[in-house]
Amino acid sequence: LNEFELIERFFTRAPRSASVRLGVGDDAALLAAAPGCEVVAAVDMLVGGRHFLVDTDPERLGHKALAVNLSDMAAMGATPRWALLALALPESDPAWLAAFARGFHALADAHGVDLVGGDTTRGPWNLCVTILGEVPAGAALTRGGARPGDDIYVSGALGDAALGVAALTGRVRLDDGAMAAACARLERPAPRVALGEALRGVASAAIDVSDGLVGDLGHVLERSRVGATVDLAAVPRSAALAGMLVGDARSLALDCVLAGGDDYELCFTAPPDAAARVGAIAARLALPLTPIGTITDADSGLIVHDEGGAPLAALPRAYDHFARGAT
Ligand code: ADP
Ligand code: MG
Repeated sequence: LNEFELIERFFTRAPRSASVRLGVGDDAALLAAAPGCEVVAAVDMLVGGRHFLVDTDPERLGHKALAVNLSDMAAMGATPRWALLALALPESDPAWLAAFARGFHALADAHGVDLVGGDTTRGPWNLCVTILGEVPAGAALTRGGARPGDDIYVSGALGDAALGVAALTGRVRLDDGAMAAACARLERPAPRVALGEALRGVASAAIDVSDGLVGDLGHVLERSRVGATVDLAAVPRSAALAGMLVGDARSLALDCVLAGGDDYELCFTAPPDAAARVGAIAARLALPLTPIGTITDADSGLIVHDEGGAPLAALPRAYDHFARGAT
């Protein structure tokens, strides 16, 4: 299969949206943004051996490569519209490509996203998706709007994706049900796009939890120049992690809940008078939105209280690709 056959067979489809004036096949795509909207752009890449194991199910990889980008749109309160896909592959394996494309297109269809271009080259595994979306001008959610007194919420539950990694690498043993649930979270994250859209005009700040709660909430605090207190007991976690937190594996469970990446839930802040609206959104989307703490003044930094109300002495750190000692 040569490069152009491959693009034609797996990545060229009739655009769903009339906003795509020109899609795959020309030198660049031509897109028409809706009047009154701002264009929101983000890119995220998955590197083989670093973000995924090269023998991962390709259909799940297709899903995940797009999902992590949709999650960035969700965190901005944006509606994802168009994607570009840059692939480096060691070889052109039609079975692998067909499965990858199936996973990618299924998620794209579920969110009304058109694949409008990309690049395909031979090279070490690299799956890079650029996502473009729209938001009514001025309505985007950013990391910079949290104010002292705001409540801090997270969607869904945190830590299961990291628990899946711990189980796959032999650091913990899970029963079959917990293993399946953790791996599903890891490999098939559900980006919270509808939540992001619903939070326009409600949330004061938002971020997606891709690197762990402590690190990602830390970005909000820094951008908003505020501090926060978080109540560990309130942080939503699966039954498997709840069990581990009261046993021998507490330290691993704490790492998963507070610093586990890859969950792709949203962490957002909202003033106390928005609590009823947040509750209504949770009910409408059938998605738990749990208050976990409060924004404070900058001087206090980030304090996480344990189940007994005492501040945790050391907070687990988020992963940093270029931290000293990281490889
Ligand atoms: P160029 O030489 O201008 O970079 P290419 O030959 O790389 O163009 O690509 C031809 C067309 O196919 C372009 O429209 C490009 O956007 C699209 N394309 C290439 N790879 C992919 C891909 N993996 N997914 C979607 N579209 C792709
Ligand atoms: Mg090219």
